[in-house]
Amino acid sequence: MAALGASPRIVVVGAGILGLWTARQLQLRGAEVTLVDARGPGNDLGSSGDSTRIWRTVYGGDRLYQELAQRAKPAWLALDSSTSTPLFRPTGVLWLLRAEGEKYLGRARAVGIEEATRLEELSLPEARRRWPALDLSDVSRVVFEPEAGVLAARDCCLQLFAQLEAAGGRYHQASVQPGAWVRGRLREVVERDGTALSADAFVFACGPWLGSLFPRILGPYLRVTRQDVFYFELPTGAAGEDLAELPVWCDFGAEFLYGMVDPAGGGFKIASDRRGSSIDPDTDPRTVTAEDVSAVRRVLARRFPGLAKAPFVRSKVCVYTNSPDGHLVVDRHPEADNVWLLGAGSGHAFKLAPTLGELVAAAILEGADLPKSCSVGRFVTTEADRMTTQFER
Ligand SMILES: Cc1cc2nc3c(=O)[nH]c(=O)nc-3n(C[C@H](O)[C@H](O)[C@H](O)COP(=O)(O)OP(=O)(O)OC[C@H]3O[C@@H](n4cnc5c(N)ncnc54)[C@H](O)[C@@H]3O)c2cc1C
Repeated sequence: MAALGASPRIVVVGAGILGLWTARQLQLRGAEVTLVDARGPGNDLGSSGDSTRIWRTVYGGDRLYQELAQRAKPAWLALDSSTSTPLFRPTGVLWLLRAEGEKYLGRARAVGIEEATRLEELSLPEARRRWPALDLSDVSRVVFEPEAGVLAARDCCLQLFAQLEAAGGRYHQASVQPGAWVRGRLREVVERDGTALSADAFVFACGPWLGSLFPRILGPYLRVTRQDVFYFELPTGAAGEDLAELPVWCDFGAEFLYGMVDPAGGGFKIASDRRGSSIDPDTDPRTVTAEDVSAVRRVLARRFPGLAKAPFVRSKVCVYTNSPDGHLVVDRHPEADNVWLLGAGSGHAFKLAPTLGELVAAAILEGADLPKSCSVGRFVTTEADRMTTQFER
């Protein structure tokens, strides 16, 4: 890429967590940043606009993400201490494992998880004593990751946005598309009415819309799935107190279920990491049925008997943007010198966002390398090879 001046003008499209951190990291390194979003920072239709996201370092088999998560922690803590709104709560993550979960942890250990974080093995009686709200009858192993915790997702977006604006960053609310390409470079992004925004470099961090913005190089490979999240009311009295004491929990058997008490008072959250049906993020009605709620309640009651009759409070239908192998997309556009693509979070990118932003900023401003496993070039072109392996997180 041609050398950029001391204070390059960079447009970041997408004010979800990946675009926000990238914009902020570019700004901290001297770039003149304009952030563009069709709907607003951390909005409800994107993937970053929920109340909670888990920060953890246990990754079943890929050291890259362990390291990216660990490197992100100081930035999250600094963001947390920059405001009176709590943004990170160090609740710890409790791993409730059965055969599949044990394999996952085994893979994390094989790639050095214990160099990255402290893990506490608990005997089942010990775990029952510590967290009496849990039914552990089918669990083979309990592991606690004490340094993990919960990020207040939407509030993180809003605080980053406030920091960006306070430091002179510009924000433009509009839906934009790549505009004219001149000799392997993008000159501008354009709105539907033709209004153009030019810059020296562009980052597209467009979450579930990334594939449709780049239909040839990304469209065939990224799958947007609906992910239902359910919230139940905590009971009052001793049962409610025991439940409120629980850390974030990851219940890893044949299915990977997870949840937590929403620190913002939204209730007891439960969701499955199983990929839902493919949807269009603009048109899906994002509602759940009474049968969906009943099915989740049955699962909930088995693990947390105190919640068997808990009133259902609300649902949130969120979206994952999945790559075929579960790795992210963090790369320069293969045909454009000044265009960078960031996304395909595949259900696990929130926690990594400060580091991803740092990597992209260093690539744009200093020509630094990006992880090969996150390249656009890794996507294969034959139908048979697509969507076959689901990288295990
Ligand atoms: C239910 C659920 C649970 C999750 N749990 C975790 C977790 O515990 N831990 C974790 O690390 N990760 C988790 N994730 C994943 C994480 O939330 C996502 O990977 C992350 O939020 C993706 O952020 P993003 O910035 O790429 O996308 P988004 O937040 O979707 O942002 C994209 C933005 O781009 C804008 N945009 C798109 N197209 C255009 C356009 N043409 N013009 C202008 N603006 C545009 C959109 O309006 C949007 O604001 C979870 C995801 C879901 C759905």
